[in-house]
Amino acid sequence: MSLSDQHAADLSPETVVVAAGRPERAHDEPVNPPIVLSSTYFGTGSLGDGDRGYGRYANPTWDPFEDALAKLEGATLPGLLYASGLAAVSSALSLVPAGGVVVMPSHSYAGSLVMATELAEKGFLELRTVDITDTDAVKALISPESGKKADLLWLESPTNPMLGIADVRALTDAAHAAGAIVVTDNTFSTPLVQQPLSLGSDVVLHSVTKYLAGHSDVVLGALVTSNPELRATLLHHRIIHGGIAGPFEAWLALRGLRTLALRIERSQASAATLAERLSVHPRVEAIRYPGLATDPGHERAKAQMKGFGSILCIQIAGDEQRGGADAADHLVRALQLWLPATSLGGVESLIERRRRHTAEPLSVPENLVRLSVGIENVEDLWSDLEQALKSLDG
Ligand SMILES: *Cc1c(COP(=O)(O)O)cnc(C)c1O
Repeated sequence: MSLSDQHAADLSPETVVVAAGRPERAHDEPVNPPIVLSSTYFGTGSLGDGDRGYGRYANPTWDPFEDALAKLEGATLPGLLYASGLAAVSSALSLVPAGGVVVMPSHSYAGSLVMATELAEKGFLELRTVDITDTDAVKALISPESGKKADLLWLESPTNPMLGIADVRALTDAAHAAGAIVVTDNTFSTPLVQQPLSLGSDVVLHSVTKYLAGHSDVVLGALVTSNPELRATLLHHRIIHGGIAGPFEAWLALRGLRTLALRIERSQASAATLAERLSVHPRVEAIRYPGLATDPGHERAKAQMKGFGSILCIQIAGDEQRGGADAADHLVRALQLWLPATSLGGVESLIERRRRHTAEPLSVPENLVRLSVGIENVEDLWSDLEQALKSLDG
């Protein structure tokens, strides 16, 4: 790649998203990497994990994105792309030894929780879930007074969709003291807002589907680590379990990454404005956004993040029927600009009532609506929310 690690370390992330992952500067060569469509590569010798060899081992189209993401997360080794965020979750959970203990936030991404729960039900691992904002409770599960210590601490901060903030440094230190490795799902924050490796995490996970690709048109995942043994294990898992990225998706993800800094800047600013306004709206019973000074996670978020992200959650005041779910459903249906859809992190603003998913933990309130703020004009977004909230009264 044409941008050295040394040079990237001197540049701001807003520049790295544009400059990383370019081909060598040679006369008449393209400035963007090509898409390589080949399931196999010329070769005659024996084939190892480090060789290109065959299309499940490697594809040159992955390299620029893996290089750029590693630079952004401050890793010394290239990242690893996967077919989806959950393929990356599967690979990360493979780091747990048979029967090992995993400590996970009770409000982790639902798919990660389902996967860990199913592995636990089959006896492959022991799962301990906990309120990740309660540092003492997490520490007690990592190193219980009696019983096994944790092998892996799974971190998500802010959590999805409760937006709880973990003390990443304190929990990482506690996990390492117990001999556990730490995997942090950094999907909500992106490396521009939070760098878990610098807070001590061993592995960072992304659903690239969300902010990194940013246009709701690809499904991809990634892992990043600076630990050579962990990376070798993860790479081997990717080769043997086969959760690999398609070259076209990998190319689209790099193209999306180019505008990440601009998108984050806009969507974070809009999220802050909308949070302030929603927090005083009579139809909003409760709001979660770590950027609000009144939010329980505010101080922690300020200390470990650069900004507060662009996801916010509100609970809609309504009649007691179905815990306010009807009012929340009504709000979502009354919107004309916001798109009623799951997922997050795209250029378009998305909204959904989370408990419409049966896999969502029951501790998520029925009337909780998650807003993924996009890059549209903030006054247009606000007008639409205002008219939809108003329609609840009529
Ligand atoms: C979407 C998401 C995932 C799963 O990623 P997919 O690309 O949908 O497989 C994992 N973690 C978080 C926080 C997510 O938002």
